[in-house]
Amino acid sequence: MLLLLSLVASCATLSAATSDFDTRFTGRTLRFDYHHSGNADEEHIAPDRFRLEGAWAGSRTQLVDETNLGKYLFLVIDPETNRTIYSRGFASIYGEWETTREARSTWRVFHESQRFPEPRKPVQVVLKKRALDGTFHEIHSSRVDPNSRFVDRSKITPAGEVMTILEGGSPQTSVDLLLVGDGYTAEQRGKFAADVQRLVDSFFDWEPYRSRKSDFNVRALHVPSAESGISNPRQGVWRDNPLGLSFNAFDSDRYVLTYANRALREAAASAPYDAVVFVFNDRKYGGGGIFNLWCTTAADSSQAAYLFVHEFGHSFAGLADEYYTSQVSYEEFNPPGYEPWEPNVTALLDPLNVKWKDLVEGSMPLPTPWGQAAYDKASYDYQARRQELRSQGAGEETMEALFNEVKSITKPMLEGEEHYGHTGAFEGAAYEAKGLYRSEVDCIMFTRNPTKYCNVCTRAIERIIDLYSK
Ligand SMILES: [Zn+2]
Repeated sequence: MLLLLSLVASCATLSAATSDFDTRFTGRTLRFDYHHSGNADEEHIAPDRFRLEGAWAGSRTQLVDETNLGKYLFLVIDPETNRTIYSRGFASIYGEWETTREARSTWRVFHESQRFPEPRKPVQVVLKKRALDGTFHEIHSSRVDPNSRFVDRSKITPAGEVMTILEGGSPQTSVDLLLVGDGYTAEQRGKFAADVQRLVDSFFDWEPYRSRKSDFNVRALHVPSAESGISNPRQGVWRDNPLGLSFNAFDSDRYVLTYANRALREAAASAPYDAVVFVFNDRKYGGGGIFNLWCTTAADSSQAAYLFVHEFGHSFAGLADEYYTSQVSYEEFNPPGYEPWEPNVTALLDPLNVKWKDLVEGSMPLPTPWGQAAYDKASYDYQARRQELRSQGAGEETMEALFNEVKSITKPMLEGEEHYGHTGAFEGAAYEAKGLYRSEVDCIMFTRNPTKYCNVCTRAIERIIDLYSK
């Protein structure tokens, strides 16, 4: 009886929230396009346009984001009541770029979009940036009347074919993944469909996705490319591909991003989606993932399954890289003395109140001792050999052989650790060997060794699945 009553109560709450949604919003999606520019010292937002898309695929009950994730925060405010009626935390290419050396000597501009349910009345759209102490500060505010001539309501012309891979439920109560292909020609449509199926099958072999599969819808978008593959500037390879994915983002060989945001958003608007995963037609190891933007994965790499779940951890749940021995282009991605916002790394400024303290067993020492010196030696040796081979133009087989050799050394090393599989605070995380800590000895966000995320990462992912599906 108690159970029945609570079910009735939760249904009533749900329908009240849904009718609240219908009062405020039309059920379609509005997109705010803007340019984000600056250098290491200053940044500016310049609006581009408002664009009407199709049906709103996101939650109708969890409109205000309470996860406190992201370097930036987007808010939609009702000017009559000053109430936030929609918000989402996010990170961006700009937010990463401003920490590179290049930002110290030049300005750049990146195109960005925020999508939100189309309001019935005029609203204020606001962008805020997180300061080092974790608080948010406004960097842009503008008003939009959705019924005005300043909203582009022209038809979305499909840029390609949308394929349904998995239909779990209504877009309103599901995580809607959209796998977007780049570097697949019209003739390679069949290869794209097969690559997507293979990657989706392996994705749902990993937890927590396996247990939560019924909360997902998966669709794929094939936008025919003039040429096969994507650009690889360090090898002098240039490709005309419609969504602009390329290796060597921020001059980092394996980092694959695109700056063609507007082309992506116009193409993706053909399907309902909460999260975009780029699948690019290439054999070379590479990928990338930025929170609430998208992730990228090389379809033909022998590591494709790992790349998908690792990069998706970044883009879907705001997970940080837990590794620190690989070369990256960032300088002081996390300045010392401040707590990072990402859920899976900590500066351990207050060990008694570490953000995952409820997962730490009472007897666990913090920081937690582990054999970092031996691991670092093996890992830095590998990085040096990897860089040397890459600079000689070595092929994927050579790189994979090297990786497997190192794995045969580091995997037993990590698995033999006294506290392996337990939650603590292990020094070395987020590109820093000292001063930043991860929660377990090993995790998919740390190495390619394990077949699961650590408990802290798993919980962070489940929280975001709940945000879209409940
Ligand atoms: Zn982790």
